[in-house]
Amino acid sequence: MIIVIDGPAGSGKSSTARAIANRLNIEYLDSGALYRAATLIYLEADCDKEAFFNLLDKKDISFYYRNQLFHIAIDGKSVTDDIRTEAVAENVSEVAAMPDVRAFVNELMREVVKDGAYIAEGRDLGTAVFPNAELKFYMWADLDERARRRFDERKDKNPDLTFRQVKESIARRDQKDEKRETDPLKKAEDAIEIDTTGLTFEQQVDQICLEVKQRIEF
Ligand code: C5P
Repeated sequence: MIIVIDGPAGSGKSSTARAIANRLNIEYLDSGALYRAATLIYLEADCDKEAFFNLLDKKDISFYYRNQLFHIAIDGKSVTDDIRTEAVAENVSEVAAMPDVRAFVNELMREVVKDGAYIAEGRDLGTAVFPNAELKFYMWADLDERARRRFDERKDKNPDLTFRQVKESIARRDQKDEKRETDPLKKAEDAIEIDTTGLTFEQQVDQICLEVKQRIEF
């Protein structure tokens, strides 16, 4: 069983999906984290595509969800924090636009989801990866609201960061994600749209949980 949430950066997908996973006692899958891990490998290869694909072939990427955190490791070494740096954020959309990277990540996801009940979030899950998902949501909020959320999340760890930098970075990423040829960010026709601009976190979780409970039997 799989429920998917797609939407642009900072729309609240990750925190909402985790809250729902906890309430419904199901697994959580963060597809963006997998693209971010691939990006770490791309940076390790000094952004050389051939070296990158050679490395990607040899690396073992493993992940699991526990204690509200999506843990991810490359060759057994945790990269859960490393995937959240600005360098990764700046390069991830370029890496995610490579069709071979998308095929690689999709295979990892489809393999784990075969066994168990999941809520997964990303950009193309309802359109390309899990077109037959039991339930699909598309979450979004206006750019200022999304940038404010991301800035609040990051500012303690990175005191030099400004709101403007975050807003520009998110806007660049959205543009690349929407414009890429392979599986761009797009609302699936059968996805339920949730505009979180004026909603509190609790309200958005309640709204999605209600839809899930009305449509899926556990
Ligand atoms: O969700 P998060 O912001 O961590 O995703 C990082 C990046 O990974 C996105 O900006 C996008 O380029 C890529 N991504 C994607 N398809 C997904 C999930 C993420 O292309 N399903």
